[in-house]
Amino acid sequence: MKKKKIETKIDDNLPADKYTKVSVSLMNALASGEFGALESLLNNDVRTVCCGHRTMKGKTRTMNYWRGWRQRYVETSIVTSFEVVRSNYYSHACLKTDNTIVMFQIGGDLVSAIILSAVKTSEYVDDDKLNYPLDVERIKQYLEPLPTTDDEGTPIDTTNRMPCLHCGIESSDLLWYKSTRPGFFNRNWNIGQVSVCPQCGLIVEYKHVKTTELETDKNKWVGPKRPNNGNEYSAIASKIYSERMIELLDEERTSTFVSYLLSQLTDVEVESACTLELRMPKKTGCGDNSHLSIRYPNGEKTEDIIYNLIVKPTEMAAWQLYLLKNIAAVLPYYWHGGYNRCTYIFQESDIDGIVPLKFHDLSELSAQDLFVPSVEKTIKNGQCCTMLVRCCHWNDWNGLVKEEVSIMIENGHCVSYERTTVDLFKYNCGLWY
Ligand SMILES: [Zn+2]
Repeated sequence: MKKKKIETKIDDNLPADKYTKVSVSLMNALASGEFGALESLLNNDVRTVCCGHRTMKGKTRTMNYWRGWRQRYVETSIVTSFEVVRSNYYSHACLKTDNTIVMFQIGGDLVSAIILSAVKTSEYVDDDKLNYPLDVERIKQYLEPLPTTDDEGTPIDTTNRMPCLHCGIESSDLLWYKSTRPGFFNRNWNIGQVSVCPQCGLIVEYKHVKTTELETDKNKWVGPKRPNNGNEYSAIASKIYSERMIELLDEERTSTFVSYLLSQLTDVEVESACTLELRMPKKTGCGDNSHLSIRYPNGEKTEDIIYNLIVKPTEMAAWQLYLLKNIAAVLPYYWHGGYNRCTYIFQESDIDGIVPLKFHDLSELSAQDLFVPSVEKTIKNGQCCTMLVRCCHWNDWNGLVKEEVSIMIENGHCVSYERTTVDLFKYNCGLWY
């Protein structure tokens, strides 16, 4: 049998640090069979933890294990591709292949633990080792000591589980809890096992066990609130996407809504001979969204509204164009139009309304100011300027997404709108309707 070629890939934007280096070394060793470079990065006491199975202690056993792993999976072409990616779970590079992830604990310059785990051990999102970890302060009200056996009476084993990736404490020496948290839309309970490092105070592992019906109102969350730290863009956004006005919107009130919308726009206006119109979603077929359009004096209309407005060459104008472009995501919809629904993050406290994110440690994203919108003038050249709009949103089928839009304004009009996205927290509610 001819062996398949091994594909290797290194994600762009990884830092040139020791975690990236060892991830790449392990990938190259598994692809080529040359383990020398990897071996030189390992501490003599290094251990390899195969989560849920066993732990190999010492450099010799670790090297034998990985050589054996290559024989079992790579030489047999069971595994044919590897990728070095960032794991938000521990904020460093890791090696990934299919549903397997390899992470590292590095003390000083050398690797002291190699952890092999499933990316996800269940379909439940908080189980995902690429996503941001849970925050102990946010979930502590749902924790109780972990029983020694599960509901079926099988002993719960806390050995050979994920060690603390920061300080290296073994799984059996961590603090273990049973977690019973409200799930998607607060309609059920997610029951899982949680380990917390007594030294670092951080959540090490979350393992989803099962989902049960919600019986009580234990879902009244009393954890820390995230700050209302909006800026001028957040303030105008909450007016343009006014929840109160959207709630009142129906077929009879579309022109009231449009007048309201126009009264909130400060740096963007409709040309005097044209009119802005709103059509509510059609309640036929398998789904529709609300549609904003501009009608020309000749009666024709376009939904490309952003190119048909008079726009000031300002950051605020770019922001208002962005809000208008995306408004359908917050307006009324019909059936499958709901897949496009987004919750925009205009200030950090908006995260508190998103159940799947509510319990996570997102301080890294907060420190990058990703939870408040920003607009930056990047190029100014005579009558032409380019603005970079940055804003995050949540969608139940995509998770938390960072959107960056480059908007070019020339002679009072928007002439280009280019969008790129980065997934910050992958999520899919799994509900197809
Ligand atoms: Zn620790």
